[in-house]
Amino acid sequence: MDLHTLGIADLRRGLRSKEFSATELTQAMLGRIEALDPKIHSYLEVTKDSALSQAKEVDAAIQAGAYDDLGILAGIPVALKDNLNLKGTHTTCASRMLESYVSPYTATCVQNMLDQGAIVLGKLNMDEFAFGGSTESSAFGPTRNPWDTDRVPGGSSGGSAASVAAGLATVTLGSDTGGSIRQPGSFCGVVGVKPTYGVVSRYGVVAFASSLDQVGPLARSVEDAAIALNAISGRDPLDCTSQHIDTDFTANLAEGVKGMRIGVIPEFMEGEGMDDEVRDKLNEVMNELKNMGAEIVEIELPNVHASLSAYYVLGPCEAFSNLARFDSVRYGYRDPGHKDLNGQYEASRSVGFGPEVRRRVMLGSYLLSSGVYDTYYYPAQQIRTLITQDYVRAYEKCDCILMPTSPYTAFKLGEVKDPTAMYLSDTFTIPINIAGNGGMNVPVGLGNDSHLPIGAQLICPAFKDENMFRAAAALETVYGSACVAPDFEKAGA
Ligand code: GLN
Repeated sequence: MDLHTLGIADLRRGLRSKEFSATELTQAMLGRIEALDPKIHSYLEVTKDSALSQAKEVDAAIQAGAYDDLGILAGIPVALKDNLNLKGTHTTCASRMLESYVSPYTATCVQNMLDQGAIVLGKLNMDEFAFGGSTESSAFGPTRNPWDTDRVPGGSSGGSAASVAAGLATVTLGSDTGGSIRQPGSFCGVVGVKPTYGVVSRYGVVAFASSLDQVGPLARSVEDAAIALNAISGRDPLDCTSQHIDTDFTANLAEGVKGMRIGVIPEFMEGEGMDDEVRDKLNEVMNELKNMGAEIVEIELPNVHASLSAYYVLGPCEAFSNLARFDSVRYGYRDPGHKDLNGQYEASRSVGFGPEVRRRVMLGSYLLSSGVYDTYYYPAQQIRTLITQDYVRAYEKCDCILMPTSPYTAFKLGEVKDPTAMYLSDTFTIPINIAGNGGMNVPVGLGNDSHLPIGAQLICPAFKDENMFRAAAALETVYGSACVAPDFEKAGA
């Protein structure tokens, strides 16, 4: 049986009816990882022993007829971006700086998955410290896109998207500061959700930009993503920005979009800033939503064009501050042989951090320096307020907004060399982090020219994440749920 293609509901059915055991399922997934992951390098660490012992516990419950007493993710194979702490495993953030760091504690979102019975297969590759859009900046080598291994999977949660698209995990967690769940979701043809800021606790997530970071699930179906979000969302006393959430994100998946108001931005529908095939898809998706009974309304976001500029001020400033802790004394790589402290700091951070991390840290340090602060940081905060207000006004007219996720499909490894060109790949995702709203990628088939996955992005008002899930589920009835990439579907251990 092709267990690696099944979603949560089917896996649960099979486990409950003893068609296969949790151990068999886990072994099948571990076997696939061993045989197939070398082609894409989505995993940085495979937690084989703990996965098998977790599976044993689930099997004991199944034998005792107590499967339904376990959580909603009981026996489900999941994996985690390597900036999420799981006690006893490495949390490297794909950086030399943290190469030998072993987590002494577990992130709340990860603990929530464990409490629901999930089986953790391992930790996943990413751009170093989540700075990037291609997973090429990992200090341990890039991840490749299962749809075409000459191409990038997107980033920074490239391992999280590629492993799901290759059938090497059922659900994964990623983090999204400017698009890092949605853009790789789009490149790899899987669902990727960036919940509203505050839906998921950030405790135990290595911080990039604390006012923008949010954890979310990647999966091959909208339902699986909703189930996973149910598991990880909610108030956590250890993160004061987390909120009480009692929404069941699966509740309205079957409702359809009849009567829903979907906002579109006319310039985007005309293809401004995106490839022709993305524009064509976006218009097709809009028409599908209309055919299913949604009301399409035109909206304006007059300040949204300034999002990228604001993000590349605010992001590096927060990153500079957050990454100050990697000082080679308390954490991380320590360059040997220095007698003075400054020399040790300098050498350790120069060797431990890769070029993109150093670029952001230097940029943040400059932007926050006296005299410069007023010119950049302060206006960027003002722009942030304007952008947030744009969305609030737009949502008076609509329940959800439709946009592309990425302006183009997955590019080739090494193709985008200029960092600022890489930054542009998040044109459509960054504004949502700036405003704090929820946004998600839904796969909507392949591009006419590239024959690679294209994603539609659905965005919702803050704490109305159920709206985007509802529209996404409707689109899934048209486009089908995401599949395992063709070259990996039949390939087996
Ligand atoms: N690609 C964006 C950046 O490089 C977003 C990264 C993210 O969301 N973690 O900053």
